[in-house]
Amino acid sequence: MKVKLRNPDRIEHLPGPMPVSAVLARLDVNPETVLVIAEGELITKDHVLADDAEVEVRPVISGGAGPASCHACERTSVIEVRRHRSSYCAEHFVDHVRNQVRTAIDHLGMISYDERILVAVSGGKDSLALWDVLLDMGYRVDGLYIGLGIGTYSDRSEQVVRTFADRRGATLHRVDLGAAYGYDIPAATALRRRSSCGVCGLSKRYVFNRAAVEHGYDVMATGHNLDDEAATLLGNVLRWQTPLLSRQSPSLPARDGLARKVKPLYRLGEREMAAYCVIKGLDYIVEECPMVAGNTVLRYKDALNELERHAPGTKAAFLFGYLERARDEHFPADASDGATVVPCDRCGQPTGVRGGDDRITAVCAFCRTRDRVRIAMADPRRHPAGSPA
Ligand code: SF4
Ligand SMILES: [Zn+2]
Ligand SMILES: [Zn+2]
Repeated sequence: MKVKLRNPDRIEHLPGPMPVSAVLARLDVNPETVLVIAEGELITKDHVLADDAEVEVRPVISGGAGPASCHACERTSVIEVRRHRSSYCAEHFVDHVRNQVRTAIDHLGMISYDERILVAVSGGKDSLALWDVLLDMGYRVDGLYIGLGIGTYSDRSEQVVRTFADRRGATLHRVDLGAAYGYDIPAATALRRRSSCGVCGLSKRYVFNRAAVEHGYDVMATGHNLDDEAATLLGNVLRWQTPLLSRQSPSLPARDGLARKVKPLYRLGEREMAAYCVIKGLDYIVEECPMVAGNTVLRYKDALNELERHAPGTKAAFLFGYLERARDEHFPADASDGATVVPCDRCGQPTGVRGGDDRITAVCAFCRTRDRVRIAMADPRRHPAGSPA
């Protein structure tokens, strides 16, 4: 059989017949971190692949495995969610995703039907799935795409976002970092003391908030899922980042010029979001960002996936336990960092200031970082004459 693996793309040939679980074991792939797709359909670990089968092993970085019929009907399941001890057919899996989003929204009062919502769409599975689910549920939700200037990766991301918006007849806003602010994310590699992912995250948060306020949206929604949130929590705990711990929430209220921010997918794993996209026929960008090497969150995800492999439900217990039992008691929001929010002297966007009314510090982190990137870009030592661009 022919097995296509991703990141990096490669083909392996194995003899058949062989169950999916054995194929993954032969290839040394953690089943918690992939979906297996044959002829456009998801298949489970007990599915036996013939000698002439062609399959794709698609990385998603998350957890699940198991056989059987659908939890809600008699049909054969296409996906298992081990932490729920459930398997679903395609139709009931889509219901499961909507139910989890419904629970998240209702439980935390995230959004209402008369509000205008802006969802940040990157072209990845999570944000496209979120936009799709919220549209299906009848919410007033538009998209924002931020052009990061990361070569063909950004081109392809934008293409899938545009295709989705056209297909759904949905409104898509676009902000190009280079055109609007004079730098792109590859230029951030010129900075010594800050990772490209750090600059990228800061830039995305800034542009997203500014666009939401300027276009009059009530709420900003992001596609952060259970894996993202558990990995962020682990990182913050390992370094005891108490201000960040007190702010970690799937729903942050509006504050001083910052729109309300919600994460309706926080109860769903990455693997579930990838499966949702495959089942709903949503094209998303599978390849990894070429600058991902600096992303520390991925290391925390790997560690949590290893724990999840042996004890399904670990990630959910870690995250939900923190949100429901530990945060308010031990890291209350008013004990965060004591910052006062004032308008940035340069751009007018809200920024935190410590130490009373010291206006010198009232230039926001985005403006300061942008200046540093642009200065580094202009440094001739980085581009000596005759060197390739
Ligand atoms: S991997 Fe890093 S640079 Fe690439 S899109 Fe994500 S945060 Fe930005
Ligand atoms: Zn079913
Ligand atoms: Zn600013």
